[in-house]
Amino acid sequence: MSECLFCAIGEGKVPANRMYQDDSIVAFKDITPRAPVHILIIPRKHIASVADISEADRVLIGRIFEVAAQLARDQGIADRGYRIVVNSGADAGQSVFHLHYHLLGGRPMSWPPG
Ligand code: 5GP
Ligand code: ZN
Repeated sequence: MSECLFCAIGEGKVPANRMYQDDSIVAFKDITPRAPVHILIIPRKHIASVADISEADRVLIGRIFEVAAQLARDQGIADRGYRIVVNSGADAGQSVFHLHYHLLGGRPMSWPPG
């Protein structure tokens, strides 16, 4: 999957500003931040989108949310609140087809999203 940008970031072949990493998950700053805190959380395993999550990924997906909550605490946005976004497919605007969770915070968020 060397042609996948986020696989390459996970493998360290493409540089990124890493905020967290373990055996199965990497988190790094979004290159075009949309909020004061904008971190992408990815599985190292290549999963193209939400539609491709399988039963075998249950623990991994749960861990991603634990990492998101920990990063929010680390970034000092846990008390005010934050948003976790997963764009899935064309209508949602997914542009990188390796599952990623946007952790956004540090400013009020509007609803509904655009
Ligand atoms: P999507 O639109 O697929 O939900 O989100 C993809 C995100 O990846 C965008 O917010 C975009 O700014 C970010 N992104 C794209 N290329 C890179 C890159 O090379 N490095 C980093 N850190 N983020 C990237
Ligand atoms: Zn990938």
